[in-house]
Amino acid sequence: PNAWLVYCRAGFETDAAEELSHRAKSIGIKGNCVTGAGWARLELPAGEAVNDLHHHVPFASLVFARQSLVALPPLALSREDRLSSIIEQVRASGWSFETVWHETPDTNEGNALSRLGKSLDRPLTTALKKKGALRRKAGGRRLHLLWCAGDQVQIAMSFPGNRSELPGGIRRLRFPSRAPSRSTLKLEEAWHEFVPREEWDVRLAEHMQAADLGAAPGGWTWQLVQRGMYVYAIDNGPMEKSLMQSGQVDHLREDGFTWEPPQRLDWLVCDIVDKPARVLAMVERWLVRKWCHEAVFNLKLPMKQRWQEVSKRLAQLEEALEDAGVKGQVRCRHLYHDREEVTVHVRLRG
Ligand code: SAM
Repeated sequence: PNAWLVYCRAGFETDAAEELSHRAKSIGIKGNCVTGAGWARLELPAGEAVNDLHHHVPFASLVFARQSLVALPPLALSREDRLSSIIEQVRASGWSFETVWHETPDTNEGNALSRLGKSLDRPLTTALKKKGALRRKAGGRRLHLLWCAGDQVQIAMSFPGNRSELPGGIRRLRFPSRAPSRSTLKLEEAWHEFVPREEWDVRLAEHMQAADLGAAPGGWTWQLVQRGMYVYAIDNGPMEKSLMQSGQVDHLREDGFTWEPPQRLDWLVCDIVDKPARVLAMVERWLVRKWCHEAVFNLKLPMKQRWQEVSKRLAQLEEALEDAGVKGQVRCRHLYHDREEVTVHVRLRG
């Protein structure tokens, strides 16, 4: 293998590529970035161990990557016999693995290719089993075939504990028909991403108290209410009526940037569309004063240099917390339901 391959939302390839370069450089590795619709790869010079790099930059620490893989060189196939070249490349790599996934970039062209993988799956798995590459007890490793065209595939490997367990790295969620807005899925996805399922009953618990800044019409508030929480919904705009009838929502027509909670809360969430620097300064104040234990907020990214903006803002937040002696974990992801924005999660310790 000679490359680090990640999947991302179409249109964010440059951001993903810059993130990979930047992270590699931070541990002294220079590579060459290549992108295609829905993916980015960092090619390493001969002699550099991509497995080490992949291991040292955990998937969970990446922002724009939906999946993180160690990849073989892209493979051009003959449309008459796709299997032979694939089997040969895998055999030559010496890899062994427990499962094989066929995936396509998250684009219209990619979707049109999804049947190809399905049709090749059975003959391919039979052949790979015969070669001993596909077998039980291979450390949970998974082989990924990213189909970029009918005659182009990138073959890659993922490792348990350092990957997304979702096909394409995409968390598809069903839109709850009673929720007031589609944005509701952003908060739900953030919880899946940042709060392990087995901790939901403790960290997203009944009777907790939350603030939702920029709450209207109430998609995020609806999620908090579903968990049984009491919510201060801060917005000049109207909240959906049936949500207000829950009796769990206190709607305050105030400015989310200056409003202060009457007591310490469990959660702060914020979906206000404003400059990242402004949102961050506000959240920083909340965290430094420990007005909440956990926070989920979006940084809107209408600018070109999205990776630069995000990395700068995250560094600023980490620094502010450190200067204030506040310990906490900051994570940031470009979620599937995010568009021109990323989602940040902070959990304070103690
Ligand atoms: N998360 C909401 C949902 O799921 O329904 C959607 C939020 S919408 C993207 C942004 C909201 O922020 C708007 O309702 C707007 O009125 C509100 N907003 C903008 N500036 C604000 C401010 N300074 N204080 C409070 N709310 C603000």
